[in-house]
Amino acid sequence: MSTSPSALVRTCGVRIRVPETLQLALWAAHEERGIVRHSVLCELAEHLAEQCHAGVGRLLHHRPDQAVWVLWDDDPDSEPQCLALKDCANRADPHASQDSCNLYTDHPGPCGHQLDTVRPDSHRLGLVDAALTVLKEPDRHSPLALSRAAHDAALLPWDELRARRLWPRLSPADQAAVYHHISLPAGPYIGPFLAQRIVQNAPRITGLWQPGADTLRGGAEQAEQLLEALEKLPDEWRSMVLGLQRYPKTAYTARGRCEDGQARTPLDVALSAAQRDADAGRALPAPAADASSLQDRAEDRHRGGELWHVLRELPYGWQVEAIHRIHHGKSALSAIGSMTEALDRIRSYGISLGRYAAPDLDRRTPR
Ligand SMILES: [Zn+2]
Ligand SMILES: [Zn+2]
Repeated sequence: MSTSPSALVRTCGVRIRVPETLQLALWAAHEERGIVRHSVLCELAEHLAEQCHAGVGRLLHHRPDQAVWVLWDDDPDSEPQCLALKDCANRADPHASQDSCNLYTDHPGPCGHQLDTVRPDSHRLGLVDAALTVLKEPDRHSPLALSRAAHDAALLPWDELRARRLWPRLSPADQAAVYHHISLPAGPYIGPFLAQRIVQNAPRITGLWQPGADTLRGGAEQAEQLLEALEKLPDEWRSMVLGLQRYPKTAYTARGRCEDGQARTPLDVALSAAQRDADAGRALPAPAADASSLQDRAEDRHRGGELWHVLRELPYGWQVEAIHRIHHGKSALSAIGSMTEALDRIRSYGISLGRYAAPDLDRRTPR
């Protein structure tokens, strides 16, 4: 049974970063295994300031009917509480076995199936601006301040996109690019390099709610075409083309010559040359007879095949984003590797996609 949108209430959506002390408390709250989240979002219906926020801090692998919740208030001096709580027993349809409320037993406010995405919050954008100001001068701030700023600068724009209902309108490749951005602060340390990357990405994402903006950047269509062309190539040609993109090295030209000292041939050029040769039934261009060239060719084919396999394991929009990055100069190893890593990292925000998708946990994904 679905609830009409007009009957839905917005989710509170206040977010806190999970520092090390809170991570330890989340581990200590239950002996069961389960990923500790690096960021927790209040999942209750929007509520008065006096009421506590509550969000899932850790799922329990073998206890799908409960989770470790974080309860906190807006007073910066009070410590958040971590409690393993059973799920609310209410269901949207009392006769269905699924579709239960994603909140805990005796939670305040309406049940999960009556809740809409996170609410608009006038403070959110101010927090993003303040965080970017800190990240722009990483040497002037402590590691702790940088971690807090990276969290806010990466995750709050994602919340804002959902609050403005723009998120579902983004293409799968744009969503993948935003997911990659929010994965950046999920690691243990935010240094100047990472701070700079977050600052560089931020305007493209915050630009999405400027009037007339409907895409993160151009080029997704071209990346889709390159992916399709790669897919159509015979295996050995595809492995060689992708293998040659693994890092800047000697160039592959349309005639199959390798010219020392040149930068890597761009993906679109390498692809159309390979496509033409493969369609004409030509054999792969022979490498030079020296040991180094022979080894290079073997490595191209081996790595190229492996990279294709890893690329195809990503969700479609993530594949397009990886190809976009390769086409714009990233090595295939770096582009595909960092998308794969991001897919793993965002699980610590409760987002499980691709090989980590878990349909039975969908109701636990932040709205
Ligand atoms: Zn709240
Ligand atoms: Zn409920």
